[in-house]
Amino acid sequence: MKSRKIVVIVGGGPAGMMAAWWLAEKFEVHLFEKEKMIGQKFLLAGKGGFNLTNRLTGEALLPKYSPAGFLDKALLEFDSLKLREWLLQLGIPTFEGSSGRVFPEKGITPAYVLKQILESLKSRGVVFHLKHRLVSFNQEMEFVFIGSKGKVGITADYSVLALGGASWSSTGSDGAWTNLFSEKGISTIPFQASNCGLNVDWPDAIKLYHTGKPLKNIMLRVNDKVSRGEALITDYGLEGNAVYPLVPEIRNMLAASRIPLICLDLKPLNTAGQLKEKASGTNVKTSDYPALFKLNTASMALIKAYSDKMSFSGPESFTHLIKNLPIPVSSLRPVVEAISTVGGLDTRELNPDFSLKKFPGVFCAGEMADWDAPTGGFLLQGSFSMGYFTAQAIITDQYT
Ligand SMILES: Cc1cc2nc3c(=O)[nH]c(=O)nc-3n(C[C@H](O)[C@H](O)[C@H](O)COP(=O)(O)OP(=O)(O)OC[C@H]3O[C@@H](n4cnc5c(N)ncnc54)[C@H](O)[C@@H]3O)c2cc1C
Repeated sequence: MKSRKIVVIVGGGPAGMMAAWWLAEKFEVHLFEKEKMIGQKFLLAGKGGFNLTNRLTGEALLPKYSPAGFLDKALLEFDSLKLREWLLQLGIPTFEGSSGRVFPEKGITPAYVLKQILESLKSRGVVFHLKHRLVSFNQEMEFVFIGSKGKVGITADYSVLALGGASWSSTGSDGAWTNLFSEKGISTIPFQASNCGLNVDWPDAIKLYHTGKPLKNIMLRVNDKVSRGEALITDYGLEGNAVYPLVPEIRNMLAASRIPLICLDLKPLNTAGQLKEKASGTNVKTSDYPALFKLNTASMALIKAYSDKMSFSGPESFTHLIKNLPIPVSSLRPVVEAISTVGGLDTRELNPDFSLKKFPGVFCAGEMADWDAPTGGFLLQGSFSMGYFTAQAIITDQYT
């Protein structure tokens, strides 16, 4: 009997697992992972919200991703509906939260989701090689790993590298693979934090008394980019779902040596006119503000800290501050604690099917490539879609 062709997959995150799953139907698949377990960052994602994907489907997904066009084909071929169908097939039903985020049904833990995927991979014949770090590959498709018992080599017909970004390096995604790529003349871009918190040089009063307090139902604006949701005041600055979508704009401003001002609207559901109306009564005093405008102590403290005495004490000018409070951002939080990273593999090194121009039998998938998307399920969706798309590209190349 003719033996099956070999695919070497490196990296046991969502992108690598998805590629392995589809390829296992047609190939002998070997999945190498340098850590002692598969899917550590996936499990970490589960500790937070665990947005497996988003309710946006098909074309509606595309504007969430940059650079524009890079992921279009992958997302259209394997969108959130396809991902949810696949999860259901593995015994993982999902539901849409009110925010559009898609979660596993109540009672299904992240560990269970990972277990179902791994069991399915095993039943399809995928061979796992844990604690094996890729250290070299060449044009002859020879891949070398350092394992617990020393060097291990394997020759592949095809390969999918799904080596991840560089945040939360404790999960294995340390970005160290960029050295290997540089040695081979494959261009990489330094990693930068995305979907991360902001450093703000808080006045002492904010840091001392308001750290840990949430600002709910707010709107944030940087230039023409707007985001709604919640932000958390931390001792270093701000975190939260209202903050993360603004990071690309803030990153661009910092790179251009401009100080980003994040404009805080504490009452996005009230128009400026409505607030002015409230302020128009006679004898409105500053002590009336919290009750009159329904502002909590953290909101009041922020307005006080970022305004002058005159604007604060005049009821009408105060309403302007409620809707337009400028807070200077000093920098982004470090890569290691970001939810995701940009940078990594320069997308110009890839053919449209995500194979490397310099190594046409080697495909790349997931966060290791320089693309970006906001939180809300779009990161996992992008990684799963790329895993699927590379698998189909390999199957098509071999069988047509
Ligand atoms: C705190 C947190 C919460 C998140 N929450 C969400 C969420 O709710 N929704 C969402 O969509 N996304 C979320 N994400 C992002 C999401 O987890 C990642 O985008 C996704 O895991 C990327 O998948 P990947 O397969 O590309 O890479 P990874 O999951 O990073 O996997 C890459 C794997 O490659 C291995 N590897 C690296 N180098 C080598 C080597 N040389 N040899 C062998 N193996 C190697 C690594 O050990 C790692 O296991 C979250 C991330 C974090 C940090």
